Parts: sequence; C-alpha cells; structure tokens
Amino acid sequence: MPAALTHYLFSKNLVKNDKYKDIFLLACQGPDTLFFYGYNIKKRDDKKDINSFGFYLHSINPTDLYHNMLAYAFKKDGEEKEILIEFTRGFVYHYLLDRTIHPYVFYNTGFPYTNKKYNLNHGFFEGSLDTALMKKNNCNISNRKAIKANKKYIKLCSTMIASVANSMMKKEILKDDSYYKAYKDFRLVRLILDSKYGIKKTIFNKFFHNSPMNTLSQPRNIKDNIDYLNDKKSVWLNPASGEESNCNIEELFKKVELDTRIIDNIIYNYKDNIVTRKKIEKLVNNINHDGKPLNMNMRFFSNIYR
Ligand SMILES: [Zn+2]
Repeated sequence: MPAALTHYLFSKNLVKNDKYKDIFLLACQGPDTLFFYGYNIKKRDDKKDINSFGFYLHSINPTDLYHNMLAYAFKKDGEEKEILIEFTRGFVYHYLLDRTIHPYVFYNTGFPYTNKKYNLNHGFFEGSLDTALMKKNNCNISNRKAIKANKKYIKLCSTMIASVANSMMKKEILKDDSYYKAYKDFRLVRLILDSKYGIKKTIFNKFFHNSPMNTLSQPRNIKDNIDYLNDKKSVWLNPASGEESNCNIEELFKKVELDTRIIDNIIYNYKDNIVTRKKIEKLVNNINHDGKPLNMNMRFFSNIYR
C-alpha cells in the first residue's frame, strides 16, 4: 500500500521492456499481493501466516530481500532470468514508492497499527488517492486489469519469492505457488469489490460503511473538499522526524523516480558481490516500507477526516 492503482500509475511510465510489461507492473504491487492470499471460496489453511508475512516484509529493512532476489535471478539464464530481473525491479519500485508516499498518508490519517479508526482512515485515504490520480491522469483501467499478468511468468516469480523468503526466514513460510495463489485471490477480490459505475461502492458505503471491505472498494467520486494530491501545497510533517514538507503527490513521484534510477543502475550493472549489497543498503538507508527509519517511532500527524 498505497493502493494498487497509485502503484500502477507511477510505474506504467517506467516500463523498460514491453514484453515483460505485465509481470513488471504486477511486481510493482510488491508484497501487497500477499495481503489478499486466502480471500477465496477455497479455504487456504496458511492464510494467516502468509498475510502476516506480507506485513512483515513491510516492516523490515528490505536490503537482504532484494539482494537475495537479484542473486537468485542472476543465477538463471535466458528468458527466465530476464523475467525474474524485471520482477525484482518492480518489487523494489513498490518499496521505493511506499516509503515515500506513506509518510504523507500517515500524516493525514494517523497510524493504522494503533487504532481501528485510523486503520479505516488509512484505507479510505489510499483508495481516494487512487481515484484522484486516475482522474488527473485521465486513466480508466480497473484494478483487476492493472495487475493482470502471464500465468507462466507469475509462477516463475512465485517460486523465486518462496525460495528467497524461506531461506531468509529459515523455515517454510511460502510454498512455490503461494504468491501465484495470492495473485489469483487478489484478482478475485477486485472482481468482487469493483464495478465500473460504482454500484458496488454505493452498496458498501450504505450498508458496510466502516468495514475494511468498503475501504478497499474503490470510490467512484471523492469529496471535493479534501485535497488528496496536495495540489494546494499544504505543509505536512514527516510522522517520524517531524520534518516539514509541502510536496504534492506529483513531486513525490518525481523523487521516487530518481530513486528508481539508482536501483536500475544497480540491477543493470549487477555483480554478485559485497559492493552490490552495500549499494542496495545505501539506497534503503534503514528505512522500511512505512518510510520510517527502523529505530524511530511515528509521532506527528493531523487527521484529515476530523
Ligand atoms: Zn506495500
């Protein structure tokens, strides 16, 4: 998170190889895909473990994860290698966008881990951000379509994620097809939640207003009185450091784009050595997906929905 279409809109202009566009764009959803694992009619026994693993990946310093994904990808050959590299690139892009947008979202909504209401606010805010950005970009793609990718490619990447995750955790967290199943469930959830003319959203709003389901269902329209994209350049504070900013979403996107060039450079000049790891470590700078240095707590916020 932020929500799927924000990641999609940010990444769609950064596709390098048209052949692997879809798998790259799916990868740009990062570990968020794992949040949807088990939302299916079929019961998946390890649902809880896999959902929490998605959250875990958001909470840690991800240096080793990316380093190990690259090491795995570069051991392969031919097309398989290219697919895995594009996937890893997208996975890192997800992180880079998350860590930059999240402080802005947290500042405006509070911290979801501490309070159920803030958690709902967080979801509403990210969903509305999606809608505001789609309008601004004149884009109309559905969530379900934005994440659709080639089954064979996803299965390859699913095996990579399982291998890297399990060796990182020193136990079996993911099976080879867990990520693939999470992808299927992600698409199913979007099918259930979204509708072109916003009919489902109207129903959710009316009957399940304060439910996570409603926060996930993308709003068709957003309240005009809330400046989700910060076009008015209001001042907001970094929730951890208290540092002031008046960046709007467009400017934050530009910042992230500069970061993506650094990881591209690392990837396209990849060598399996300690220097590569150091470079990733420097880019990550001990910051997790929340955009928070691991040794700091978030303290500053102003609830936009007050
Ligand atoms: Zn995320």
